[in-house]
Amino acid sequence: MNKKTKKFLSYYKPYLGLFMADMFFALLASSISLIYPMIVRYITNEILVKYDISESAPIIMKLLFVMLALAAIEFLSTFFTAYKGHMMGAKMEYDMRNDIFEHFQKLSFSFYDNQKIGQLMTRITNDLFDVTELCHHGPEDIIISSIKFIGAFFILININLPLTLLVFSFIPLMLVFALFMRGRMRRAFKRNREKIADINAQIEDNLSGIRVVKSFANEAVEMSKFKEGNNKFIDSKRNSYLNMGIFHSGLTLFTALINVAVIAGGGLFIAKKIINVGDLLTFLLYVNLLVDPVKKLINFTEQFQNGMSGFSRFYEILEIEPDIVDKPDAISLNEVKGEIEFKNVAFKYNDAKEDVFRNINLKVKAGEYIALVGSSGVGKTTMCSLIPRFYEVSEGLITIDGIDIKDIKLKSLRKNIGIVQQDVYLFAGTVMDNIRYGNANATEEDVIRAAKNANAHDFIMELPEGYYTDIGQRGVKLSGGQKQRLSIARVFLKNPPILIFDEATSSLDNESEKVVQESLEKLAKNRTTFVIAHRLSTIKNAQRIIVLAEDGIKETGTHEELLAKEGVYAGLYRLAYSSQE
Ligand code: ADP
Ligand code: MG
Repeated sequence: MNKKTKKFLSYYKPYLGLFMADMFFALLASSISLIYPMIVRYITNEILVKYDISESAPIIMKLLFVMLALAAIEFLSTFFTAYKGHMMGAKMEYDMRNDIFEHFQKLSFSFYDNQKIGQLMTRITNDLFDVTELCHHGPEDIIISSIKFIGAFFILININLPLTLLVFSFIPLMLVFALFMRGRMRRAFKRNREKIADINAQIEDNLSGIRVVKSFANEAVEMSKFKEGNNKFIDSKRNSYLNMGIFHSGLTLFTALINVAVIAGGGLFIAKKIINVGDLLTFLLYVNLLVDPVKKLINFTEQFQNGMSGFSRFYEILEIEPDIVDKPDAISLNEVKGEIEFKNVAFKYNDAKEDVFRNINLKVKAGEYIALVGSSGVGKTTMCSLIPRFYEVSEGLITIDGIDIKDIKLKSLRKNIGIVQQDVYLFAGTVMDNIRYGNANATEEDVIRAAKNANAHDFIMELPEGYYTDIGQRGVKLSGGQKQRLSIARVFLKNPPILIFDEATSSLDNESEKVVQESLEKLAKNRTTFVIAHRLSTIKNAQRIIVLAEDGIKETGTHEELLAKEGVYAGLYRLAYSSQE
């Protein structure tokens, strides 16, 4: 058994009892369906023939009671399989959904760099639904179909062998037809799934960027792009429904043909007194019990395909090992001073051809305020993202207080680093929730203190419900500067000894930049800080400026030292910053 199948079966484990009960009731229900025609046969062949009305009435009454009892059992079984069976599937889906969400939390940045969120969402929704359907309908269908098929087969032989052979002469044809159609439908369903995943990705992309769409007044362009995808989807659906139409009508035709053949053959046998009317009637009832599982089995193969390919896609993701994980003997940091050293660090993105940089050597003292300068795309953000191990160094190592960051538990490492970026992501919820994201244990007073430190308290108090104002998804009801101050408050609350400000004020207007800058400086006090900024004021005050170029660190020094050097920084300074002075 391969690992995937093992994993699939492992989801049954917690529900083994429920599963067995489900199978039992499926078995019960299908066995009962085999009994009814038998009773019909008994009534027509025995009772109506051998007894007169006054004698047969009480017997028929008794049989009716038997049938009612059977109906009650069937009712219970059906209720159980429909309710508990579906619940078992739903619980298995619940477990899988938890597993994949947990796995999503573990996967590294490099994974998300190459994914469309909409497609990942599809994995959790559509794909898992297919799996659930398989989980409980699959085994049920197999049981029900086999019982009905085998039972009906033996009863048919028992009633009349030549007629049974007549029926079976159709079955191979039916199977060939069904298998052929199944192949076509499988491909069609696969296309459907790909197309719906594309559409979901497109919707996600569009809605995330709806402000850009509107600012470019590109609604019509988006609509026509969307229509293109949506058209592909409907074309794909048309194709699969066409195949489904052929499939189902074909099977219906086969069933009708079998019935006609049996009636023709049976009529002949009745005329020759080989069988009687009751037998033919019973035979026809069982023929349908026999054909039914053949149809079901074919549906099942389709369900199996869908479910297994849904599970494969689920498993594919579950199998992706996060490329950055704790070593078994990783340690937790305590009392971090904040000394950071890059030793011969080189870095290359997974799918890139060239290194972003090589030979980075840099020693940063605890509490030092370092500015990173360099043209856009040179690797400033990348260099900073190596410190919290968002990406792993390709060569060399980075240490915090002399400890290789690879030897530190990720959670502990990241708890000690605060990041303020240009783009602020705020979660759905209140201002309070969003600041508290920095420290779940913080009291209301802690949150307010952090907000005051971040120059956010005053504007928060002016919001309709103060700290308990719902800021909506992505915090759209706040200005850029306000959002930035919330994100700073979050870091105040986290209180890490190491900070990274990556263009934190770059998108702000002058006025809010000043307020944000002020709170950033307050935050930076007594913490090791890396600042990436394009504004002179931010950089000038740095204790040390690091100039990053294509081939590594070009210059380091204070603003004055670097100006005096007349090197890269002096050039950059004249070019970009002179106008600001
Ligand atoms: P900076 O912050 O100095 O503007 P970055 O660190 O963002 O520069 O980018 C450095 C280089 O790495 C650029 O060439 C950029 O295209 C590339 N890069 C950035 N992020 C990724 C990523 N997630 N995957 C692959 N390449 C990336
Ligand atoms: Mg950058």
